[in-house]
Amino acid sequence: MKIGAPNNPRKDILKEIEWIGKNKFDFVDLYLEEDAATPEKIDIEKVKNALKKYKLKAITGHTAWYLPTGSPIKSIRTAAIAEAKRYFEVFSKLGVKFVTIHANWPGGMFSPKAGIRFQVDSLKKLVAEGKKAGIEVMYEPTEKPYDSFENVSKILHAIPKLHLHLDIGHANLYGKSPEEFIKKFHKRLVHVHIHDNDGYDDLHLPMGAGNIDWKTLIPFLKKHYNKTITLEVFSNDKDFVLMSRDKLKKLWKS
Ligand SMILES: [Zn+2]
Repeated sequence: MKIGAPNNPRKDILKEIEWIGKNKFDFVDLYLEEDAATPEKIDIEKVKNALKKYKLKAITGHTAWYLPTGSPIKSIRTAAIAEAKRYFEVFSKLGVKFVTIHANWPGGMFSPKAGIRFQVDSLKKLVAEGKKAGIEVMYEPTEKPYDSFENVSKILHAIPKLHLHLDIGHANLYGKSPEEFIKKFHKRLVHVHIHDNDGYDDLHLPMGAGNIDWKTLIPFLKKHYNKTITLEVFSNDKDFVLMSRDKLKKLWKS
């Protein structure tokens, strides 16, 4: 198992990599999105050198969580795919193998069935575009009630080449169960995000600050999974990220 940390895409990417490197994480989860980490703002050589300096690899990456892949408007979905393609090129140059596309539900009067149809249309095209760039696409269910086990299952079944990226915090909301996703889809699971919450709001808290029973969940995850885990703890004080990392390491060992 490898523990990684993301760069904050609102901040200078080189400084963010420096913090991740100095704190000896195993890898960088490269968040390329607005506004400081868009393709035109990334200096490939400088990012490569920063990674090399700390013997880090960017194994996983993500595009903007608000990419409108589930828009009911076809031209907007087409634009979302074109936008993702620009990012795939940068990920490819930086050696990132797995890239996340987040769930995106249309909202309004559209049913989950329509949302599945719009997303499957986009995701099939994104998997094909990813392949051309040497990238495997992962699907991350988000914090919406529509990201239910049932709806996510339908999307994964519709696209066999799409991988699952399980965000444990998101899977703890609205009575959902992270265990259910792990049990059923561990063969499709290639990346995990960890953070805590109260079961109602997507708070991205440090491990132990919410209601997730990590002492039960981590051994269960370990039984089925041994790949990359990113700590997606959002706090201005990054000590909370380091505390979560130490907690995760301890629970994984015990
Ligand atoms: Zn996440």
